Amino acid sequence: MKTLVIAEHNGEKLSAATLSVIDAAKKLGRDIDLLVASNSSSNVLEVAKAVEGVSTVLDFSHEKFENEIAEDIAACVVSVKDSYDFFLASSSTSGKNNLPRAAALLDIQQISEVTEILDDKTFKKPIYAGSCIATVQSTQEKNALTIRTTSFEKASASGGTASVEKKDVPDSGSRKSGFVKNELTVSDRPELTAADIVVSGGRGMQNGENFALLEAVATKLNAAVGASRAAVDSGFVPNDYQVGQTGKSVAPNLYIAVGISGAIQHLAGMKDSKTIVAINKDEEAPIFKVADYGLVADLFEALPDLESKL
Ligand code: FAD
Repeated sequence: MKTLVIAEHNGEKLSAATLSVIDAAKKLGRDIDLLVASNSSSNVLEVAKAVEGVSTVLDFSHEKFENEIAEDIAACVVSVKDSYDFFLASSSTSGKNNLPRAAALLDIQQISEVTEILDDKTFKKPIYAGSCIATVQSTQEKNALTIRTTSFEKASASGGTASVEKKDVPDSGSRKSGFVKNELTVSDRPELTAADIVVSGGRGMQNGENFALLEAVATKLNAAVGASRAAVDSGFVPNDYQVGQTGKSVAPNLYIAVGISGAIQHLAGMKDSKTIVAINKDEEAPIFKVADYGLVADLFEALPDLESKL
């Protein structure tokens, strides 16, 4: 039996998250196949077959994958289910959408947000917003895992010599949803979950206009901009900026938290960052407990200062 990894890509490149899922898959000790659902004009197959550690790229190409929806991806997974005993995806928005549907169709219970693979039945995963780490043991013959990608390295994008196997795209049956439109935040900045440096703002920023102060610092550092849920819920920035338990998980080399108190749900999404810097005017703010460097200061003075020094 083998491991099937569901690839995420933009038609040109695989996501960094997919490379981390492949690294996790290696720990299961089986051959790894990569399911690539793409529209026919995509170049991504060439990129996919060069990834080190991949045996076969399953080429599900069809016009409908210009915009993927979970029903179509899950149908592809189910169509090849007999060859695999592991089905892996990243715990990104896309993986959280696709894999549960496939797992339900396979009648298996998904194990989510795996941070460590101890053996092919035993996995570690955070629970209670990361306050505890559970070690879970599966009794299932087949397993579906979403992978917390910040806990794994990235497989090398080159050096692989996978073969490509053309697959028939299955009919997803009478589906209840269809693609309507994509609304993407267009930004020149690095993607939040892949960035080397993240600068995040919280409720202390007071409003969306003040995020310009953060963005100026982020530009100097070539950083992504993130936010706490309070900042998102207050409408300062769009939802896809949110870092935390119900947002994105990030583990950059440097995370700068500005005007963020450090609630456990925020920490759940960023505490694995290599170096954490906090700027907060309240010296009792819990963020300072996880920060490597803390600056007790008014952010409206500290941010312009920092920008000019950078
Ligand atoms: P606050 O807690 O209000 O903190 C603002 C901070 O800014 C304070 O520490 C204050 O001292 C500081 N400040 C104010 N003015 C200045 C200034 N001028 N200069 C410097 N510092 C200043 N939260 C997340 O972030 N991500 C999640 O994914 C998430 N998921 C959640 C899921 C659930 C089920 C629940 C219940 C909550 C979740 N939350 C999440 C919300 C979380 O509990 C907190 O409410 C939220 O993180 C607080 O955001 P904040 O730190 O920006 O705001």
